[in-house]
Amino acid sequence: MNKRELFLRHVAQTSPAPLALDIVKAKGSILRDAAGKKYLDLIAGISVCNVGHCHPKVVKAVKKQVDDYMHLLVYGEMVETPQVQYAKWLTDQLPGSLNSVYFTNSGAEATEGAMKLAKRFTNRTRIVAFNKSYHGSTQGALSIMGDEYWRNAFRPLLPDVLHLEYDSMESLQEIDAHTACVFAETVQAERGVVAPSAQWMKALRDKCTETGTLLILDEIQTGFGRTGTLWGFEQFNIVPDIVLLGKALGGGMPLGAFAADQKIMQVLTENPVLGHITTFGGHPVCCAAGLAAFKVLLKEGIVDKVPGKTALFKELLQHPLIKAIRANGLLMAIEFENFEINKQVIDGCLRRGLLTDWFLFAPGCLRIAPPLTIAEKEIKKAARIILEVLDSVQA
Ligand code: PLP
Repeated sequence: MNKRELFLRHVAQTSPAPLALDIVKAKGSILRDAAGKKYLDLIAGISVCNVGHCHPKVVKAVKKQVDDYMHLLVYGEMVETPQVQYAKWLTDQLPGSLNSVYFTNSGAEATEGAMKLAKRFTNRTRIVAFNKSYHGSTQGALSIMGDEYWRNAFRPLLPDVLHLEYDSMESLQEIDAHTACVFAETVQAERGVVAPSAQWMKALRDKCTETGTLLILDEIQTGFGRTGTLWGFEQFNIVPDIVLLGKALGGGMPLGAFAADQKIMQVLTENPVLGHITTFGGHPVCCAAGLAAFKVLLKEGIVDKVPGKTALFKELLQHPLIKAIRANGLLMAIEFENFEINKQVIDGCLRRGLLTDWFLFAPGCLRIAPPLTIAEKEIKKAARIILEVLDSVQA
């Protein structure tokens, strides 16, 4: 059996048509496969590699940490330097009330931890989330996922979950004194990059405050400069009670987190003690990588350059088959009439060495979310390929 056949036979499959590229090297915005073919990466591992693949400072930090120590003990017992330093750097860049960070292994686990924290802190059980939201694939996170197609096969799920319409003032009336928390994305990424109005976000914040409900903003995909500001919620002038982080948080290594005020977070320390447990959460090597990537992001002015890059993509991507472009920084959805067109574009781009994708709840939209470090000439090349492919599409 060749490597591809071994992959299909022994690595559990979740898709009938995996990309199955055999990548041997990744650097900046370029991936190279075993046959030497190069791919320009327009999806950054789904908004993970914000500072590019294998940034030398991230690689160096990982190597140093591996030399010092790897796993020591379960989460929260040891003073692990990379974890402590990263928590300090993150909280310095978050609003003052988000001053305590619980590190997990993934975004979904951040969602799970935040759910437990909100239930425990408020002594309430109801959880509100929005239609077409995505917060992860574990059972709690799946329970609040905003699409019945994806949830249905796995019932029974969590009880007392209420799904409301995103960006609807009317729906906010359903949030009341029984609601423990509301989960919301600052931009609904998997719906095909849909941002709410500023008034709605403000009204959501106010309604949560008024009813003693914790507002949990999911910045797992939108954080770390993806939308043109360090955090998506900055654009709405609001502060959540809990923020969820993941993806780019680890600089290419697996890491998630939920951050809140220590006054909220401390309920996890008592009754029961060890209110949330993880063996590997906040792994020192992942924290070292994440911290190095975060420093690169902050010190190299990468986020400031995002709006210019978004504008360049929008200016270049003009074609009769493009129905709409929705962009929040370098989280962009190029909308076509249907999935069939999108699939031809994705496949055609791949043949020409351009890696793109679709969205979970928006199969007719092409995902463009490259490393934030993508160069101007790479953007021009990517746009040229997309336009060439579009010219050959059978609509
Ligand atoms: N929340 C959002 C907005 C996401 O986009 C994702 C992943 O795509 C998650 C949560 C779950 O993160 P993970 O896949 O690390 O569990």
